[in-house]
Amino acid sequence: MKKALIKIQDLHVKIKDKEILKGVNLEIGGGEIHAVMGPNGNGKSTLAAVVMGSPFFEITKGKIIYDGVDITNMPIDERARRGIFLGMQYPSEISGVTNMQFLYSAYNAINSDQKISLGALKKNVTAAAAALEMGKDMPNRYLNVGFSGGEKKRNEILQMLMLRPRFVMLDEIDSGLDIDALQTVGRNITDYAIQMGENAAFLIITHYQRLLNYVKPDFVHVLYEGKIAASGGVELSLKLESEGYEWLRQQSV
Ligand code: ADP
Ligand code: MG
Repeated sequence: MKKALIKIQDLHVKIKDKEILKGVNLEIGGGEIHAVMGPNGNGKSTLAAVVMGSPFFEITKGKIIYDGVDITNMPIDERARRGIFLGMQYPSEISGVTNMQFLYSAYNAINSDQKISLGALKKNVTAAAAALEMGKDMPNRYLNVGFSGGEKKRNEILQMLMLRPRFVMLDEIDSGLDIDALQTVGRNITDYAIQMGENAAFLIITHYQRLLNYVKPDFVHVLYEGKIAASGGVELSLKLESEGYEWLRQQSV
């Protein structure tokens, strides 16, 4: 294994007295792509939210080490500045803030020592939006307002491409995408991963093997009942595709 960019150690998380994560261990090395699969309601989005620093969850045990630093109690904006990114399962709509204004503020908040001009960012946004086959009006529309499911997901990838994070979590980035959009999004993720090389690592949450045809994972994990119940290579995602999760239930009793 390559040097770990992120280490999640014995992570226990609860929300409103309900324990959701029950001892998650996961290490992701620079240059690696890890897929996390698992049935609904088993804690995948919770894991991503907690690594991002969401204040809505309580970490009761365990820790998260990123780039050699314990970030378990670090605020969300500080994590973003250090290069952690979450492409959300359900991106928020923000009326009154255009996509371009949002990207401009986010970019300059993260890169406060190397700010970008609006003109330069606009050029990058236009090029990236074209690569993502997004409508030309996207930069000027209010953030996610009235976007289709697929447009919202492409917009999360647009943010990733502009902010250039080092630890990228994508939560069900494939939901709401038709097959052409899936290919476009998958290709953009893979191109970014190749560009970043060992400088970035990826955690891709998905239900469907088909995304993994476009974004090739080095490892596949199953998050089941709050723990990583199985880990393997691509063959594990193929097994889940054909057999579902029932075999895990039998294994865990
Ligand atoms: P997954 O992404 O694997 O479908 P989640 O992490 O979204 O699972 O949810 C795990 C469990 O935590 C579910 O039982 C869900 O209902 C619960 N949960 C998540 N967020 C909240 C919340 N804000 N309030 C109460 N329960 C929550
Ligand atoms: Mg989820």
